[in-house]
Amino acid sequence: MVSDPPGVLITGGSVISGRGDAPQAATDVFISGDVIVAVGDQARELARVAGPGVEAVDATGLTVMPGLIDAHCHISFGEPASNDELFFHRDQSTAAMLAAFNVRKLLLAGVTGFLDADCLWNIGPALRDSIEAGIVPGPRMTSGMNALLTTAGGTAGRLIPDTGTAAYAHVMGNRDEMVRTTRQQIKYGADWVKIHVTGSLPNRQGELTMWSLDELRAVTDTAHALDTPAIAHCRSAHATRLAAEAGVDMILHASFIDEPALAAVVEAGCSIVPTFTFLANLADHGAKVGALSTQVELFRGEIDATATMLRTAHDAGVPILSGSESGFALTPYGHWHAREMEVLVSAMGLTPLQAIRCATFNGAQALRREPGTIGVVEVGAAADLLVVQGDPSRDVTVLGDRSNLRHVFSRGRAVDLAGPWPERDPLPGEKVGQWAADLLTWELARG
Ligand SMILES: [Zn+2]
Repeated sequence: MVSDPPGVLITGGSVISGRGDAPQAATDVFISGDVIVAVGDQARELARVAGPGVEAVDATGLTVMPGLIDAHCHISFGEPASNDELFFHRDQSTAAMLAAFNVRKLLLAGVTGFLDADCLWNIGPALRDSIEAGIVPGPRMTSGMNALLTTAGGTAGRLIPDTGTAAYAHVMGNRDEMVRTTRQQIKYGADWVKIHVTGSLPNRQGELTMWSLDELRAVTDTAHALDTPAIAHCRSAHATRLAAEAGVDMILHASFIDEPALAAVVEAGCSIVPTFTFLANLADHGAKVGALSTQVELFRGEIDATATMLRTAHDAGVPILSGSESGFALTPYGHWHAREMEVLVSAMGLTPLQAIRCATFNGAQALRREPGTIGVVEVGAAADLLVVQGDPSRDVTVLGDRSNLRHVFSRGRAVDLAGPWPERDPLPGEKVGQWAADLLTWELARG
């Protein structure tokens, strides 16, 4: 193991705690090992006692805040542009190596913790353990295994098999299989069990609920009995309500959440990861990368309808977490982890400090840590910190621009931000090869 430096003294910065309270001006912070030892007056004295090896960082005029926690990432997907690519152009070994390459981009973007709820094969738990063992540089990570689906499928239509596994999906036919698979995933290292509650069917609008309440309970009861929380993809009000009633701990999207669903969420004590980023990127920038423009208005409508009710949820005390759904062509790694906070401000009307709380303090749950032990700049908390140029408490867009990151500390150690952004060449067979974008008819050839 690498030995820890005696500590880092960060002086004079404006400190955002992560809890949503006003920043503390010109405050010193001392970290040693993976612990924030002091915030405020005692920091310099404790750093002096720690000895001459303490590194000094002058943060005068800068902001010191907790590292970001992204509660919705797909680190093993490798930025596919389509479900065909994700399902048929990934092999286990190269996907694992690619995930190890990509995960350090999160650190370079100020993400010091993330939850990857479903992965290709068992890459998630393997990557998490490799990061912890110091084999792969990366943020703290919690992981699920494959997402659980019923035979009706999810968001990949008939690419989802009738039974067994494909890409991130594990398809189950009956209640016994649900119980067995949940136990199996926990045995193989799942921190969370992911249920894909809604999916799309041909010729049907929106996403439908693919699970019964009893089936959902089979998973949540089994997971909870083994001290493991459940997380559910729900892109409808009905699915959100059902998931909450079934005891799901965290809900992804909660799209179009309505009054009865909100009541169920409050009653059950679920948290919500809205994950507006993917929709917002598609709506605002999709045309720049040739994304389907027919869906733009649909997605804008989904953001508006959901954000209004989620504001009510937020004010009712439902913890909202920040998730970017990084891992697709529209959400490449290291680029969009802070964007969710922008949408929480613009669409939900949160203050920048409330949005930052979603991406820091509230993120503790995603990492399965007690509130206040991570995602905060407080004595005794984990030493994941950012030193940022600009004032995110007034303008969260500051955090979206990586050039504003002056320092990132992960587990008390400085992340090297000096090198070039990690670039790579395409892998053989990584992309779907198209023969043509259109039909070469006789008329077209002549015209
Ligand atoms: Zn997702």
